[in-house]
Amino acid sequence: MDDGLNSEQIDQFRQMLLERQAELKAREADGAGWRGPVELDQQSVGRLSRMDAMQQQEMAQAEARRRQSDLARIEMALVRMAEEEYGWCAECGEPIARRRLEIDPAAALCVGCAR
Ligand SMILES: [Zn+2]
Repeated sequence: MDDGLNSEQIDQFRQMLLERQAELKAREADGAGWRGPVELDQQSVGRLSRMDAMQQQEMAQAEARRRQSDLARIEMALVRMAEEEYGWCAECGEPIARRRLEIDPAAALCVGCAR
């Protein structure tokens, strides 16, 4: 029988969320200098490597978008935590399995509703 999380468990998940948030923000800061080198090298690189650079830039942009949505999910989870709704399914109101939160602490839905 799972009847929600105690405050100690919530603290653990808060730690996990804050660590992920810090990690994502650090990577975001790394990625900020990305466009520069591509422009600077443009004269010295051939067409192929320029395409490589463009492809890499596209991948970096896709990763940035993923990072943005991950950050948004983490922020929402922290808000739910502040409102004491964390760990409860946003759809059906049942507790979210702890194992599920251990894999994805930002999960807002129980396994049944996420399906
Ligand atoms: Zn549910």
